[in-house]
This record gives sequence, C-alpha cells and structure tokens, in this order.
Amino acid sequence: MVIDMLKEFVYGRLKSPTAVKIIPVIKALAVKAREKNIPVIYLADRHYVFDKEISMWGPHAMQDSEEATIIDELKPERGDIILYKRSYSGFRDTGLSSILRDLGVDTVILTGIHTHICVLHTAIDAFYERFNIIVVKDAVAAFSSEDHEYALHYMEKVLGARLLEHKDVLSVFERS
Ligand code: ZN
Repeated sequence: MVIDMLKEFVYGRLKSPTAVKIIPVIKALAVKAREKNIPVIYLADRHYVFDKEISMWGPHAMQDSEEATIIDELKPERGDIILYKRSYSGFRDTGLSSILRDLGVDTVILTGIHTHICVLHTAIDAFYERFNIIVVKDAVAAFSSEDHEYALHYMEKVLGARLLEHKDVLSVFERS
C-alpha cells in the first residue's frame, strides 16, 4: 500500500522533509510487486472543507486540487487500485477491507506518509481488521525523526507490526 504520496505531502505545505528520499524505494517495491502480481493499492487523501481533519491541519489535499494528485514519480499503473480517503486511516469509509478480503490478502505492507499519522492510523485499523502488518522502515516518512521513530516503535510494540527494510521485502517478493 502506498499511502498519501501526494504533491501536498511530498512537495506542498504538509510535506515531510524526508519524503523525496522514499520515492525511489517505494518505486522499486511497486515495480517488483506488479511483476509478481502482488496488488499495489494507493490510499490518497481527498478532502472536503467540512472534513474533520481540516480543523487540525487546515485545507490540504482538497478535492480537485493539484495538491491532491499522486506524484508523477509514482504514477499508478493499469491494474493498481486507488482509494480516496477523508480520514487518516485508509480503512475508514473506503471499502479497503472488503477489497483486501476479495483479493485473499492476509498481510498488508505499508509505505508512504506520514509515519505517525496516516500510516499509523491505517496500521491500527489493519490490526483490528485482522491483517498482519509489515511496515517498510525506509519507505515511510514523517514531519520529524521523533515522529517517525515513536510511530515505528508504537506499531511494532502495540500492533505487532514487523518493521522491515525494503531490501528484505524485495527478496520476499522475489521468492513469491
Ligand atoms: Zn488529510
């Protein structure tokens, strides 16, 4: 899953300073996943002005705005799944859970932005939806290294997430 790799969070007002670094890493994972018929699912913020989050962050990734588009470097390809969300979690009001079940998925692999917000909330719901969770440590980014580290720690200790480097995930893909 590729979470919120949108212009807003990579280059815009709510960008992560390390977002650019994770682009080639996510790209490599997506390329290999497609090659192995592993579903690539994009979760993308797309807000209305009345959404709850707007009270926290101000307008961001608004419907029909340039900032809400997925960055060119990670453009979805045919066969990828794109789900738009109005909440931190990719599971809320998106149909993600039933899509994963229809696909026969038991494990979600999380990449994207921000480690401590949308990645974390998606991981929490993945936990309650009974999916195994892998977080690709070098393919997620946050506002600061503190935000990044505490969220990784939380996902590992509280949600049972496995924290892997992208190279390890690539070799799992390779063997599948
Ligand atoms: Zn948002």
